[in-house]
Amino acid sequence: MPLLQVEGLGKSYDSETKVLRDIDFEVEAGEFISIIGPSGAGKSTLLRCINRMVDINEGYVTFDDLDIGSLKKKELRKMRTNIGMIFQHYNLVPRLTVIENVLHGRFGYKTVMQGVLGRFTEEEKEDAFYLLEKLGIEEHAYKRCDQLSGGQQQRVGICRALIQKPKLVLCDEPIASLDPNASKVIMDHLKSITSEMNITCLVNLHQVEVAQNYSDRIIGLKKGEIVFDGPKLKLSEEQINHIYGIATKELITV
Ligand code: ADP
Repeated sequence: MPLLQVEGLGKSYDSETKVLRDIDFEVEAGEFISIIGPSGAGKSTLLRCINRMVDINEGYVTFDDLDIGSLKKKELRKMRTNIGMIFQHYNLVPRLTVIENVLHGRFGYKTVMQGVLGRFTEEEKEDAFYLLEKLGIEEHAYKRCDQLSGGQQQRVGICRALIQKPKLVLCDEPIASLDPNASKVIMDHLKSITSEMNITCLVNLHQVEVAQNYSDRIIGLKKGEIVFDGPKLKLSEEQINHIYGIATKELITV
């Protein structure tokens, strides 16, 4: 049984345009998959359908044996503890410290009161420090997040997603706001820590080369449809041109 099954998924935000059409794919536990495609292709919407941040209009998403589209509020909250999310703009609370932001990743397991009071167990705090150390930012634990660089903030975002102990992590353009050096650091960490923790990873990326460097399997989206799904070695220049609708040479300089 795959960890994630997407069958005939369709999504529209209004009656005129279908943002996703007939999306079918399966993800086995432990895979690290890049989803590529130009801006507006529907990459972000696809991730948002998987964890039901937006409602699904057609088809099914089955995650961990659960029909995501039919979950009620409470079940949805429980299901989301198994899906971590990493965002382009980090989505941290800037005035809070690094460690506080990381521990926010545990909110899904707490009552509202425990969350408000910031009650965390020793084990949760140890896990937080373990992750901060793994990502090389433990020395910043008590700094406010707005004092960190973009790359460091994204590392906090990764720690916050992983402290949930999710089965799946959805990364929505995690390096789109970072320079090439910081991007490499983030992708290296993402790849190594998800593999070490045996967490399945779906990463939306704009850059083909990054996808080819880090993932074995690539899914190409164009205008809301999957136009490529296969091993990176099978992704030809022609296919890349087709996905992006521009010459490959132009892409490499992006
Ligand atoms: P990508 O992540 O590949 O850039 P998106 O999923 O963000 O693509 O967007 C796909 C299409 O859906 C775009 O045309 C975008 O304008 C539209 N879209 C995305 N989010 C919304 C929304 N909340 N309401 C209406 N349209 C949206």
